[in-house]
Amino acid sequence: MRVHPPGLTFDVGRGALQLAGAQDVFLTHGHLDHVLGLPYVLSRRSLHRSAHTRVFCPQPIAGAVAELIGAAERLERAQYRYDLMPLTPGDRVPVGRHLTIEAFPSDHVVPGLGYHLWRRRRRLAPDFIGLPPAELIALRERGVETAEVVEDLELSYCGDTGPGVFATEPRVFESRVLVVECTFLGEKHRDKGAHFGHLHLDDLIAREGDFRNQAVVLQHLSHRHKVSELREEVDRCLPSLAPRIHLLVEEVER
Ligand SMILES: [Zn+2]
Ligand SMILES: [Zn+2]
Repeated sequence: MRVHPPGLTFDVGRGALQLAGAQDVFLTHGHLDHVLGLPYVLSRRSLHRSAHTRVFCPQPIAGAVAELIGAAERLERAQYRYDLMPLTPGDRVPVGRHLTIEAFPSDHVVPGLGYHLWRRRRRLAPDFIGLPPAELIALRERGVETAEVVEDLELSYCGDTGPGVFATEPRVFESRVLVVECTFLGEKHRDKGAHFGHLHLDDLIAREGDFRNQAVVLQHLSHRHKVSELREEVDRCLPSLAPRIHLLVEEVER
């Protein structure tokens, strides 16, 4: 998922050409549907002599990611221009003017991270609210700081995760836009989510009242299900949330 601005991508899937514009890559975990395209993206960016790509990943997989990139470099007899930067939960990375990424733990079968995108802004500090403009100007001229800096949570990207993330990282419910997976639907697949570290639609239904997000983007639907099935189930089972739910799903022809 490419986010522009500031020009970053969360995971790279199998390597879409459109990701070559992203200068920062944030990997959530090592499964191939999320990282396989990394050498391709780095190769394309190096070909275009783009600036060094910053590749961020969970600390426990940094060695394997370096080997994956290294094998591709040997195959191509090329050197990609990148810096690999391992992250642990709580780490923060500036990604542009007023923007910061913060890593948080996900709940998957392999080491994983989700990412928050924070935006900083200045606003009038509570002590000064209601004062006439002339008085505020006079205060500032005397060197009084009348503003305070606050951070808004613009986007939370959970990556692959089971429902444990809602308990360990409840701030995802406060994000303006929440991108969260919904891999499984239906009674037959009820226990698959827990087993594979994924979310079942029932996990979202159980927390329906907690989502205070402006928009919730569901992704990562299993290929056993049709996108239309997910939409129907969302409309039927999540009536209060459905108008805010968007689906970002690759449909595979079978
Ligand atoms: Zn996974
Ligand atoms: Zn996956």
